[in-house]
Amino acid sequence: MKKQHFETDAVRTRIEKTEFLEHTSPLYLTSSFVFEDAEDMRASFAEEKERNIYSRFTNPNTSEFVEKICKMEGAESGYAFATGMAAVFSTFAALLNSGDHIVSARSVFGSTHTLFTKFLPKWNISTSYFKVSETERIESLIQPNTKILFAETPTNPAVDILDLELLGNIAKKHNLILVIDNCFATPYLQNPIKFGADLVIHSATKLIDGQGRVLGGITVGSKDLIREIYLFSRNTGPSLSPFNAWVLSKSLETLAVRVDRHCENAMKVAEFLEDHSKVNWVKYPFLKSHPQYEVAKKQMKAGGCVVAFEVKGGVEAGRKFLNAIKLCSLSANLGDTRTIVTHPASTTHSKLNEEDRLEVSITDGLVRISVGLENVEDIIADLDQALLS
Ligand SMILES: *Cc1c(COP(=O)(O)O)cnc(C)c1O
Repeated sequence: MKKQHFETDAVRTRIEKTEFLEHTSPLYLTSSFVFEDAEDMRASFAEEKERNIYSRFTNPNTSEFVEKICKMEGAESGYAFATGMAAVFSTFAALLNSGDHIVSARSVFGSTHTLFTKFLPKWNISTSYFKVSETERIESLIQPNTKILFAETPTNPAVDILDLELLGNIAKKHNLILVIDNCFATPYLQNPIKFGADLVIHSATKLIDGQGRVLGGITVGSKDLIREIYLFSRNTGPSLSPFNAWVLSKSLETLAVRVDRHCENAMKVAEFLEDHSKVNWVKYPFLKSHPQYEVAKKQMKAGGCVVAFEVKGGVEAGRKFLNAIKLCSLSANLGDTRTIVTHPASTTHSKLNEEDRLEVSITDGLVRISVGLENVEDIIADLDQALLS
């Protein structure tokens, strides 16, 4: 049969054969599974048969969620985690040894940066950084002990774009494991494995759930690497709960339609802001004015839900804008049905000095909007009145 399309896999991939022929996959809220006899138990533990033993290892609901994401990303295998950060940490912890080195983009999710700077050094694992605008420096950062090349694209919060094909070529040439955090794009808009990534990480908390309900994470990629991550995780316990897996698997059924509308709304918001008298500049991957517009077009299906822009008037204007917002939410999440507005310079990145903030493209007046699924005219009206207040 011809390979099914993304939307069909999202809706139709499910636990096969269940007792009551439920139309939707049932929830297997069980910590363990029973064996027929001593021989069944022995063979199961010896991995001579594929079966569920204990929900820290596998569970039908987490396996369904993993199978869907693998199909969507074109990956061989995967493992699901309780949060996106559990996926990030477990991936690095499983694959790296003391003395290993990482080359990473400087613009990464805040907790990932803290992992690199504060915790991995405890195990003598070091990281060198490149700015997203200086990809020509990447090769000069590679050392004999470099094992992983890591990046996110689009980046948070400035929605810069990194060229996945370029990263894939560098990783191949230097025999590095390329790990991409694909959270902002979702598997619907971008598939890093096609461009040479070995592993793809998602925080399922964001657009994959998309409704602000549960936390979750996942790493997918080549069988051999996932095997290492699986063995690490089944012994250390960062696994996704069956309940959250059931919720997230249902969420994936609507991912394509939700993300289509997120992108459509975000594009309209970006175009509106580009023409606004109180706005210095706007960044959105699918705006022609985005510095990496051509790269975004090459590797993404649409621009995603996050728009970054700078209000005129610096930190004070940014705070004032946030205070005047009425409909949208001030919240730390993104990829929700509800539009969320944040001002990184006074909140998430307030501990960085100005020089470090500029390293990651965060100017004083930078505002990040995660455009939701309200009617776009209402979103725009709220942003407009807040800018003019
Ligand atoms: C939110 C986020 C994470 C962490 O995910 P959690 O589910 O909150 O642990 C990692 N990477 C990116 C890019 C994110 O946006």
